[in-house]
Amino acid sequence: MKKISFFLMACTILFSCTTTETKKTEKKVNDFAIIIHGGAGTILKKNMTEEKEKEYKAKLEEAIRVGYTILQNGGTSQDAVIKTIQVMEESPLFNAGKGAVFTNAGTNELDASFMDGKTLNAGAVAGVTDVKSPIELAVKVMTDSEHVMLSGKGASTFAKEKGLEIVEPSYFYTERRFKSLERIREREKTELDHDDKTAAFYDSDIKNAKFGTVGCVALDKNGNIAAGTSTGGMTNKRWGRIGDAPIIGSGTYANNKTCGVSSTGWGEYFIRSQVAYDISAQMEYQNKTLKEATTDVIQNKLTKLGGTGGVVALDKNGNMSFEFNTAGMYRASMDDDGNLVIKIYKE
Ligand code: ASP
Repeated sequence: MKKISFFLMACTILFSCTTTETKKTEKKVNDFAIIIHGGAGTILKKNMTEEKEKEYKAKLEEAIRVGYTILQNGGTSQDAVIKTIQVMEESPLFNAGKGAVFTNAGTNELDASFMDGKTLNAGAVAGVTDVKSPIELAVKVMTDSEHVMLSGKGASTFAKEKGLEIVEPSYFYTERRFKSLERIREREKTELDHDDKTAAFYDSDIKNAKFGTVGCVALDKNGNIAAGTSTGGMTNKRWGRIGDAPIIGSGTYANNKTCGVSSTGWGEYFIRSQVAYDISAQMEYQNKTLKEATTDVIQNKLTKLGGTGGVVALDKNGNMSFEFNTAGMYRASMDDDGNLVIKIYKE
């Protein structure tokens, strides 16, 4: 008898603990939602014309509304993420697809990744030079191959076999990005002796950099989270450098149990910090809220390491978070009531 009542008491305690915890994180705030970024960095109002600001905001709005409409009509988060990112890939305003930054060799090498929070399936591509939509290719790697990441020529061959749109490498050219490369090359020639070049150069350039990577996280009406990121990487990159954007767990992560994340910033630090996965892990193992986890990872851990940039994140209950340690981040979100938020600078 004693044993039975002890067992019942233990069950009651266990049950009440579980329900308290569940209550903390289970409040659904949105049945569906979407959040995007167009890169973070030294984005200052004093350096921006009103016209440029309008242009960025209009493109962010156009992109997010595409994904929002898909979600509102009962479409999948996967579809919403692909279509939203494609709008930004096609815009020369962002460092992804057309408008990608240039490598040291004067080429464009594109990286992208995608993750499905329901299955934990993922796809990624790195160093792609002739595929119009790297995010579409990343999703194809996930759905049509047994691999997670393909790179360079192989990725391009796969894209051709799967019938994806191939473009001339010149499709990605924009004068603005080419001029950025030329400016860096000039400084490289005049300012530094060769051994110091790479480090110092990366340094001085990165501190003033405007990371223009694009990313999107969506939650659909079925409770599925998807996240995707697409980028040209960093200006003047060489030796086949690959950043965080195609690394699952750094640039992109999604898990229906916790959240979805897309990152932008100085990729090397995001890889070393496993930014996207760390946010999800803190929610899963430490029962943190999305806001607590994104704040800790960006403002505390990434910042201490010396990394700059930010994330957009969205949890299973439709909570959303923009978190960055730079002067600005192009960003937007929409909740299930259609409330639109678009911001550029820190507030
Ligand atoms: N994270 C990207 C990279 O390191 C750059 C960016 O976000 O703009 O390649």
